[in-house]
Order: sequence, then C-alpha cells, then structure tokens
Amino acid sequence: METRVRLMALHGGGGAVGFGMEITKLEKLRPCIEGARILITDPVDGLLLEALKAAGLEVDYRPGISRGEILVAIPEYDALVVRSRTKVDRVVIERAEKLKVIARAGVGLDNVDVHTAQERGIRVVNAPGAATQSVAELTIALLIAAARRVPESIELARKGVWKKVMGIELFGKTLAVIGFGRIGRRVAEIAKAIGMNIVAYDVMDVTGYAEKLGARVAQSLHDALAGADAVTLHVPLTTDTYHLISWDEFRVMKRGVILVNTSRGAVVDAEALLWALDEGIVGAAALDVLEHEPPATEAEKKLAAHPRVILTTHIGASTIEAQRRVAVETARKLLEALAEARGC
Ligand code: NAD
Repeated sequence: METRVRLMALHGGGGAVGFGMEITKLEKLRPCIEGARILITDPVDGLLLEALKAAGLEVDYRPGISRGEILVAIPEYDALVVRSRTKVDRVVIERAEKLKVIARAGVGLDNVDVHTAQERGIRVVNAPGAATQSVAELTIALLIAAARRVPESIELARKGVWKKVMGIELFGKTLAVIGFGRIGRRVAEIAKAIGMNIVAYDVMDVTGYAEKLGARVAQSLHDALAGADAVTLHVPLTTDTYHLISWDEFRVMKRGVILVNTSRGAVVDAEALLWALDEGIVGAAALDVLEHEPPATEAEKKLAAHPRVILTTHIGASTIEAQRRVAVETARKLLEALAEARGC
C-alpha cells in the first residue's frame, strides 16, 4: 500500500505509474524484489532513485565512486545502474558475484561488455528511445549554428564588435543522414520541415520509412556522402563504425560540407577531420562527442581550438525531459528484469 501511495504521489495519481507499469503489477513484484541491493555509480535523475526505493530496493547512490571502489563494492550488489562514465568491462563483471542486472540509464551500450554479461546470465537493460527527441533537437541546433556561424557572431558581440558574419541557408540543401534509426529519422523529419533534401544511409533496409519521408536511400556510404551539403552521424559505436568517417570518406565529400556528430566521438577519425578542415573540404564541424572526453590527443585538442569547429560537452541527452524519460524507462526495465531473474 505504501508503494502505491508513494508512486501515485510521484506521478500525480492515476491508475498507472509513469513508468508504464501498473501499480498492481509492481505490488505483485514487490515481495520478489524487495531488499535487493542496487549500486548506482553515475549521476541519475532523482526520479529513478525514488522509483527504485519505492519498489522496496536498497539503493546505494555513489555517483563519484572510483573504479577501484566499484571493484571492491560490486560483489555485494544484485543490480548496477550506470550512465556513460562507468566502464562495465569484463573485470567488473567477473567480480560481480551476485549481479543479476546491469542497467544503462541511457541509449548507447558501448560502455558495457554486453557479451560477457550475457555469458554470465546477467541481464542488460537500457532506455533506447528516451533521448531521441533531445538528441535530434541538439543536432538541428548544431546544424543551424554551423550554417549561420552563430558561435562566431556571439564571440564578436561579446567583444562589442558589430560585424556581419555570412552564413548559408539550409533550405534546398542536401543532408546525408548516416544511420537512419530512431535519432537519424527524427533529425530527418525536422530537417525536411526546414526544406532540406534527405539522403539516408543505413546497413538495414530503411526504404519503407525513407519513402514515406520522401528521402533518397543511398546505396553506399560514399554514395550518401558524395552529393551532401551537410552530413549528420547517428550510428552506434561498434567495431564496424569505429572511424567510419576517415580520410577516404572526407575525400569524397563536397568542398565546404558541414559535418555534425552527436553519435559517438570515435565514429570520426579526429586526425582525418583536422586535415579535412585545413584542406577546406569540411567548411564547419559541429561535434557533441569526441573519442576522448575531455579532448586528450593532439588532434582532439586542435579540433577543440579550431575556429571552424563547434564543440559541445556531450549534452545530447541532457534535458530535463530526456532524463526523466530515461529514469522512468530504466526503473521499469530494471524492476522487471530483476523480478524475472528471481523467478517471478
Ligand atoms: P538506433 O539503434 O535507433 O539507430 C542506429 C542506426 O544505425 C540503426 O538503424 C543501425 O542499423 C544503423 N547502423 C549501424 N551500423 C551502421 C553502419 N555501419 N552504417 C550505417 N548505419 C549503421 O540508435 P539511436 O537511438 O538513433 O542512436 C544513435 C546514436 O546516438 C548512438 O551512437 C547513440 O549512442 C548516440 N546517442 C548520443 C547521445 C548524446 O548524448 N550525444 C545521446 C543518445 C544517443
């Protein structure tokens, strides 16, 4: 009963809690999951903590915990919740004697060794759709900022220098969307509303959705890149997409192209991008992600200081709405996976 009251208070009443799980179902799961110990090692929305505590779990919230401390603590826990800071690799997983669930409060699973977890019967859950709108909006913001050279104008205004900076319109220009999944499609929809022509490239068959949107489906990555005025990247980071955009890809791009990357930093070869900027192939690059954050290599440091690079601090999913959706979806999936692991 206490659970019902707390969850209804959290979500303003109603028959179902915001995390898409009927209260009655949660109450049925409660005896099964009650007392399970959860370690949270990265900063998460307060709603996630509230939801897990309301379900009767013992939650240890340690967002600043070091890797060494995680290795010492992990054998005590039934579930681990991370964002992107904590690397859940083989070493961590092999130390986790009781672990049943790893929850990534976000989209990408590139910081979790999913293969090793599955080998050891540990369930891995994430919140794949929760940040789609936020990342898509940031992508469009970066695209427009690069096309209109907004950061340069802000810089001039700060110095009191009232000088024009000449940009380009996006209307009528071609945008190559590399990775036509959740975020890529949402970006394409918004770009279409601006009046851009869309070329989609994906390793999956995306013709159905592309046709609906009036987008052309490219036959290869180079086909997509060749005619584009702007390129936006929305692929996951895998061994296949590591440095997907490198020297050969820049060589086929149009001179002056805008490159936007809000996916994962390592999808772009930083050294090749620096070369392409200096050669004038890339007119502007807008990046929310780098292979090393903060910049660590010479090339990344040069990119960060480059006058035609706009760099943001990995803020794609950093909106109140996305973090709330992530919290709700992660809590629901974690509770369900934990109950399932305990045979309920
Ligand atoms: P998604 O799984 O819905 O879409 C990814 C698409 O990429 C899929 O359609 C897949 O078939 C395609 N793909 C995979 N390999 C490819 C390849 N080699 N070439 C072309 N296409 C390929 O994922 P999503 O939710 O759209 O997320 C996309 C990216 O955004 C991920 O890298 C994710 O980590 C990143 N992301 C970043 C932030 C941020 O804060 N900047 C936040 C959330 C997600």
